[in-house]
Amino acid sequence: MDKTPYFVKLEEAIEISCRTTIKPEIETVVLDESHGRILALDLLSLVDDPAFDNSSMDGFAMRYEDTKNPPQTLDIIGTIQAAGQEDNVVVGPKQAVRIMTGAPIPEGADSILQVELTTTNENKVTLQQEGMKHFIRKQGENLLKDSISITAGTILTPSCVGLCATMGHSTLPVIKPLKVAIISTGDELIPPGEELQRGQIYESNSFGLSGLVKWLGHEPIIMNNSGDSIDELRLALDKAASTCDLILTSGGVFMGEWDLVRKIMEDEGEIHFWRVKIRPGSPPLFGTWGVTPIFGLPGNPVSSHVVFRTLVAPWIRNTTSAKGPIEVRAFAQLATAVKSTKDSLTFRRVSIEMTNEGLVAHQKIHQGSGNIASMALSEGMVVLQPGQEYSIGDKVEVMIL
Ligand code: AMP
Ligand code: MG
Repeated sequence: MDKTPYFVKLEEAIEISCRTTIKPEIETVVLDESHGRILALDLLSLVDDPAFDNSSMDGFAMRYEDTKNPPQTLDIIGTIQAAGQEDNVVVGPKQAVRIMTGAPIPEGADSILQVELTTTNENKVTLQQEGMKHFIRKQGENLLKDSISITAGTILTPSCVGLCATMGHSTLPVIKPLKVAIISTGDELIPPGEELQRGQIYESNSFGLSGLVKWLGHEPIIMNNSGDSIDELRLALDKAASTCDLILTSGGVFMGEWDLVRKIMEDEGEIHFWRVKIRPGSPPLFGTWGVTPIFGLPGNPVSSHVVFRTLVAPWIRNTTSAKGPIEVRAFAQLATAVKSTKDSLTFRRVSIEMTNEGLVAHQKIHQGSGNIASMALSEGMVVLQPGQEYSIGDKVEVMIL
């Protein structure tokens, strides 16, 4: 342990852990199964979008020249509703064609006027205003064929999936979700639903961590809880390493006699750092069990959550080159004074209200790292540098939960 970086700053912890990477696999999925997935490769557009000049309005297409000094009355020479119908149409002087939204612009026409600004009488149309050139959507103005339109690492939101369809792709290369083993440790933990005996508590971290893994688009594998025994823990770690890409443990990483994750990692694994200057959540370690990366997260539920968001999530994004989902940060005005710890980056859970003056943050709930309600019932965490202190009315940075 002598040379193991100890009690490092958050940035340092991220940097050290990100030196260990895994190579995620790529798989191909049909468009409708790609929602929320991570795009694995840059994608070229297979087409121009629009594929042809077309109208952005229902109305009339004509030469702009003929629309000057309105009102002007022109001869209607035809109707274009769809591609192909414009093939034999040439709009000459003092002529117009009826055109539908999305229909191709016929030869000769260079402006559109929407139907609401026209009146028709038999085969004549009177234009109340000049034609608009910008109501013509130009070929390729959105996307050019063979240009990169969406890059690797993009999280495929619904609009991104729509964009991929517009580009002509029916299937997409995406990152295969990482299998993330979650092992909680502690003799006192029992599953919710059973009756608590004295000294027992309900195991909750695995559920929170599992949700966080899914939030990043990966596959949580909740392993059996390990009791406080080196042999049980070794079995659990071996099983996790042989079936998963990444291991998360919770509990047992601090300094005590019973902090067996730290102990077994010291004796049989490899530790790359231990303890981080953040509160809550100072005990974590990162290392490898065999070749499998492992984060030893603290047992206190708020701490394990904070450490996942600040340390594990950046590692997962980095190793998968994912650009999201990102942590949203905003500024809020304090309705309660808040204070950092002396030596650590500190996260205070606050409720956030939207007011006419902007976001207002209240620290309402007891901030113990064992009090998961302080996380669950808050909308944000104020981010405080070591030693920082703020008063009511000050503007502070908050991480939105
Ligand atoms: P430890 O780091 O193992 O000493 O755990 C710190 C605190 O977190 C103790 O009060 C544990 O009972 C609690 N704790 C540990 N693991 C979990 C878990 N999986 N779910 C809920 N609480 C836990
Ligand atoms: Mg424990």
